[in-house]
Amino acid sequence: MMGIKISNMITEEKIQKRTQEIGTALSEKFKDDTSPLVVISVLKGSFIFYSDLIRQIDLDFGCEFLGVASYHANVKSSGEVKMTLDLATPIEGKNVVLVEDIVDTGLTMQYLLSYLKARHPKSITTVTLLHKPEATQVQCPLDYIGFSISNEFVVGYGLDYQGYFRNLPYIGKIENLN
Ligand code: 5GP
Repeated sequence: MMGIKISNMITEEKIQKRTQEIGTALSEKFKDDTSPLVVISVLKGSFIFYSDLIRQIDLDFGCEFLGVASYHANVKSSGEVKMTLDLATPIEGKNVVLVEDIVDTGLTMQYLLSYLKARHPKSITTVTLLHKPEATQVQCPLDYIGFSISNEFVVGYGLDYQGYFRNLPYIGKIENLN
């Protein structure tokens, strides 16, 4: 996008290292559990983190996708969550790992957790690449957090600004956002 300056906040190397740690922790957590495991990507933002994370999980599991839109091309959370893609297979009785890109107010995570709970999984484990503790409006259980960041708008590694910048290999901050 013309005229936008982005600074590198979290490098590709740091993201890869942390992703590996979380993948290893998840592998350990479920290695002796005989119930089916399903790892869910929350689209669109988590798709890059998800694809790196699942390759660090050394177990058999199913891949599922949930689509939500909460920002509507703006930088402020609207608080309203719109589901754009539903799960393709039942999760009843399964161990579910929910993979988010970022937890900001917590409203999206709260919505997703109640959506999943209503489908009676055996367990739900939450993973988010980024967390903004200062922006919390509703507390949600976050089992694995990649990085906690200050209350600033970030892009890259799956996260967008007006649909762009998802392809940046690092997490960056827009320097000149009004
Ligand atoms: P929440 O419902 O927790 O307020 O917001 C969660 C969603 O808002 C995330 O899944 C993400 O799509 C979006 N979001 C929140 N903070 C940021 C940010 O700093 N950058 C980007 N690109 N999206 C964000």
